[in-house]
Amino acid sequence: MITHVPTICPYCGTGCSVNLIVNDGKIVGTTPNIRSPVNEGKLCPKGTYCHQFIHSPDRLKKPLVRKGDVFIETDWDTAYHLIAEKFRQYAPEEIGILASARCSNEDNYALMKFARGVLKTNNIDHGARQCHAATMTGLTLSFGMGTMTNSIPDIGESDCIFCLGSNTFEQHPLIGRQIIRAKAKGGRFIYADPRYTTTAIQADLFLQFYSGSDVAVLNCIMGEIIRNGLENREFIASRTREFESLKKVVLQNKYNPREVSQLTGVSRDYLIKAAEWIGKAKSCTVLYAMGLAHHSGGVNNVRAIANLMMLTGNIGRPGTGINALRGQNNVQGACDMGCLPDFFPGYQPVTDSVVHRKISKIWKFPDPIAPPRTGLDISQMFQKAGYKNHGIRAMFLVGENPMISEPDLNTVEHGIRNLDFLVVSDIFFTKTCEYASIVLPAACYAEKEGTVTNTERRVQKLHKAVEPPGIAKPDWQIITDIAGMMGYEEQFSYLSPADIFDEMALLCPGYHGITSAKLSHPDGVLWPCPSVNHKGTAILYEERFSHPDGKGVFCPVEWKTPSELPDSHYPFRLTTGRVIWHWHTGTMTRRSKNLADEVNEAYIEVHPADAASAGVSDGDIVVVRSRKGSLSCRIKTVSDIKEGVVFMPLLFDAALSSLTGKSVPESGTAEYKSVCVTFEPALTG
Ligand code: SF4
Repeated sequence: MITHVPTICPYCGTGCSVNLIVNDGKIVGTTPNIRSPVNEGKLCPKGTYCHQFIHSPDRLKKPLVRKGDVFIETDWDTAYHLIAEKFRQYAPEEIGILASARCSNEDNYALMKFARGVLKTNNIDHGARQCHAATMTGLTLSFGMGTMTNSIPDIGESDCIFCLGSNTFEQHPLIGRQIIRAKAKGGRFIYADPRYTTTAIQADLFLQFYSGSDVAVLNCIMGEIIRNGLENREFIASRTREFESLKKVVLQNKYNPREVSQLTGVSRDYLIKAAEWIGKAKSCTVLYAMGLAHHSGGVNNVRAIANLMMLTGNIGRPGTGINALRGQNNVQGACDMGCLPDFFPGYQPVTDSVVHRKISKIWKFPDPIAPPRTGLDISQMFQKAGYKNHGIRAMFLVGENPMISEPDLNTVEHGIRNLDFLVVSDIFFTKTCEYASIVLPAACYAEKEGTVTNTERRVQKLHKAVEPPGIAKPDWQIITDIAGMMGYEEQFSYLSPADIFDEMALLCPGYHGITSAKLSHPDGVLWPCPSVNHKGTAILYEERFSHPDGKGVFCPVEWKTPSELPDSHYPFRLTTGRVIWHWHTGTMTRRSKNLADEVNEAYIEVHPADAASAGVSDGDIVVVRSRKGSLSCRIKTVSDIKEGVVFMPLLFDAALSSLTGKSVPESGTAEYKSVCVTFEPALTG
């Protein structure tokens, strides 16, 4: 019998609703859910083929235990005993936990509680460190909270969309659709990027700037707005603080259009026009993604965006706001669930003694939970794992593949090799599994119930369509079982993801009013939803910001040279991004035939003039070197890229992590978008 099971696409943060077509226990296809306000009956190629990896013969089916250089299949009880016995041997500060923005809210909440309640450590983090952290830090300073301000459908209502650092039509195609909606109603679309992408094709004004010069562009636009009297004085006076300090910075001569044009490569006239369009728009919204945040200066980029939107009063109304587009399907949820070294669920600081007492009381552990002290972030964990006698000695990785996804691969690999004990739970045997002591087979999105929270804070339900392969289990179940084995059965007495959700909603203020009944509606619920009678919040800050005094704070920032600049040895600026066919490390999309048939190997895009001067042609294999490492891949010549700039997609076997460097202290994010490289023909024969 054929059935249709509605669930949520496992890829990008848009959170499109998809029906999985099930025939005789197998998923054979997909149809878009026409009742979803997010995708309104449409899917991008990734969503259309999101079923193809599920029944792959490569899926992990049984727990694996390392014996010397080989892995032996085992049963759950044996694996659980080994894990429980080993974890008991380490002090809390010797253990590190990685959660995943690919797992459900319930998986992540259970892991966060396991870290803090069972292992007594705040050393928990996840891949958002390399994307979402700059937004969280930057927007929290400006607005008091670090989330997308408006909803996806609201983008289509805007009079002027300013998009920078996001190739929206490839990364978040169903959000790209909202740009088309806004344009069809007469709205303008300004796009800023180092490449002429598929998104640039739609632009009414395209600012092609050098990667790493975002703050200079934004300060220039703000200076022009103020010089022409286009700032929103009423909003500034009634809703914000520190405007005079912003004025002092952006009105400096170095940010005038002529100077900034020299620095960024954008023409003076285009900078002036962008300022005029933004300043005069009835409503203006900003879209950005990793192009803005994936920098060592990502926090400053985000602050500059917040300054621009407050300056023009484009916050708290339809068609306005700051829409930071999340890359992974549940990156918002994993952060909301407190899978961060400094926050409990709902961004309640671990260092706040009142919060600490409240959560200890709800959890009822017989012994104290992790102390009110910030733990290590993902980069710090791998750095500490590299110290033989006093660092991290054991790690538990759930759904993360840092050997591909983390920057500064040398440090990550050194740290992982140095561990005494590594447990990895995943759906496939990833590159990181090769280093594990124990590998656990997890259920994928189509094999479990639960919830995920998309980029616009919309909480939506996952539904189970088929059984997991072999004896694989959902992560929340695996974590619950291990906690029980370690003596915490009572604190982990969950019988279903719904039990976990109810507990989480109790201690997470923004989720207090979200009930299972509300989630049964195709709209889901946008948090904050503080009480059962509340319908959720599509637009934040309508009347006040989240700072205690309700004001938004201007945080002026100066443009700084990127951490790397081209020189005669490394003359090209490498920028990175996604392609429409693949998602992140490619573990799932590369096992999906229709997607892999489109693109299935690493490549570097180069301007034809730069290729010619290096003596290489389209299709040649080249060696790409940065100051951190090197890799080989095929060259693709494209005239859509600026001379002196090269591009690589963010996937394919540790390609980029070997070229990129260490994370910066402010947000823990590394430099991904302006790494300097050189390339030369690979030696053959
Ligand atoms: Fe899935 Fe994102 Fe495509 Fe929607 S836009 S179908 S969530 S990959």
